[in-house]
Amino acid sequence: MGDQPQDVVYVVSVKPKEGLLLPCFYLWLMASLYRSYRDFLQERFPGYRQVRKVTLDAGFTCPNMDGTKARGGCTYCDNRSFSPALAMRGDGLSLQLDTQILRLRTRFPHAGVLAYFQPYSNTYAPAEVLAGIFEQVLDHPDVVGISVGTRPDCLPADVIDVLCRVSRRKPLILEIGLQTANDATLLRTNRGHSLAEFREGVARCVEAVAAERGQGFPGFDLCTHLIVGLPGEGMADFENTARVVSEYPFSAVKIHPLHIVKGTRMALEWERGNVTILEFEAYCQAVARMMSIFPKNLAIERFSGDAPSDQLLAPSWCGDRNAIVTRVEEILRGRQGEF
Ligand code: SF4
Repeated sequence: MGDQPQDVVYVVSVKPKEGLLLPCFYLWLMASLYRSYRDFLQERFPGYRQVRKVTLDAGFTCPNMDGTKARGGCTYCDNRSFSPALAMRGDGLSLQLDTQILRLRTRFPHAGVLAYFQPYSNTYAPAEVLAGIFEQVLDHPDVVGISVGTRPDCLPADVIDVLCRVSRRKPLILEIGLQTANDATLLRTNRGHSLAEFREGVARCVEAVAAERGQGFPGFDLCTHLIVGLPGEGMADFENTARVVSEYPFSAVKIHPLHIVKGTRMALEWERGNVTILEFEAYCQAVARMMSIFPKNLAIERFSGDAPSDQLLAPSWCGDRNAIVTRVEEILRGRQGEF
């Protein structure tokens, strides 16, 4: 998936009075720079002041690695660099969940738990196998919802049907990796899927969620993952990717700076001088520009991300979340009214 460790506490603020909720929400949206993930979670989990993700490894693989779509995976990918859950591979899901919740409770005694199926492609299994996997965590009393990370080409109709059935019991957020809307970059980075396949997978989900809602069920939320700074891309590509994402009813987006992880194929390209990393300022400008294109109600889950220091080769600034957030917000503040 190209996702990152979850080090953010989503603090849910106090809701305004019922009758004022909608007007306040829209006034707030007009005045804010962007919609935060914590506000999205407040809407989904109104009974919790905090919601924390705990990452789980259900033992999935990836069709981009096993030869089904490609071999070797995306050129920047090393799941060990972004998924702490991999350390628990082999432990049962109940044990993983209990261990992580025990750890979480020492710092966040009352947080709602979002069970996050993170490493590899977490819908890459037959539908009945998937149903059995989600079933193992669904009824846990601390689990308020489920988050599932996957690829757009791992979403056949019967798998989406499983996701719909899960979402009738607890809120579900489906996180779909796109990374870029540029087919040439998808090819160059060995993503193993095209923009058209992303569009097809998302369209199937949107249709299924609409059908669920038509029957009075909540359906599930969609989130997408993007990488800013992939080789050969510039501002026109970042803008185009933001426009493609804006065509769909995503609830949230995660943006990561491209970073080079030891042992990946991209690390080899970078060492040979064939990959240029964005400078800090160029990255922040790109993220701010994309945010100005996204619909105002799209929650921004994160726009920083890095790898453990012993695995990260470059850029040195990508772990400085505060500096990135501060600079992006400065740019957005300066541009309010410009777009
Ligand atoms: S799609 Fe597969 S190879 Fe690509 S980043 Fe995700 S897990 Fe890695």
